[in-house]
Amino acid sequence: MELPEFKYNPNAYKLKIIKKKNIVCEYCGNKSEYSYDGPFYSIEDIEKICPWCISNGSASKKFDGEFQDAASIEDCKNLDAVEEVTKRSPGYFGWQQEVWLSYCDDLCAFIGFAKPKHIKEHMADLEEDLENSGYGDVEELIEGIEEETLGGYLFQCLHCGKHRIHIDAD
Ligand SMILES: [Zn+2]
Ligand SMILES: [Zn+2]
Repeated sequence: MELPEFKYNPNAYKLKIIKKKNIVCEYCGNKSEYSYDGPFYSIEDIEKICPWCISNGSASKKFDGEFQDAASIEDCKNLDAVEEVTKRSPGYFGWQQEVWLSYCDDLCAFIGFAKPKHIKEHMADLEEDLENSGYGDVEELIEGIEEETLGGYLFQCLHCGKHRIHIDAD
C-alpha cells in the first residue's frame, strides 16, 4: 500500500517523524513498517500509530487526540487547515510547546529543523520572524542554533513559498 503524503508535513518520512519500524498499529490493528514518532496529545498514552491512521483521521477520532495543540496555532481563519494539522497530519517535536505558523490565510507546511545554513539561505524571508523571536539578534540566534541551545523550526507558505521560522530554547 502506498504511503500517505502530508500536505502540511511533507517531509515527515525524511525527517523521521514517521520512521521505518515494524509495529502493530494501536488503532487499526494492522502491521505497519512505518511508525509515527511525533507528538500526540490524548488522554490515553498511544505509542504506535501507522501513517494511514494519521492521514484518514481515524486515530485522532478514536483517541480524541491531536497531533498539534490547536491553541498553539498561529492566527488562521482557514478552519479546514487547522483541522487537517491538528487531526490528520503528523506533528513535530520542539523543545517547548510546538507552534504551527500561518501565512496567506492558510497554515504553512513544516519543512524541517533549521540549521544555520537554512537561516542564511532564506534570510530575507526569515528576518522578521527572527527579530520577533525574543531570543536575541540574528547573530545570536544563528549561534544558538549552531550550539543547539536554541531550536529552529522551518515552515513554508504553500501559496507564495515564503519561508517562516519558529524559535524555542532547550
Ligand atoms: Zn493504523
Ligand atoms: Zn504565501
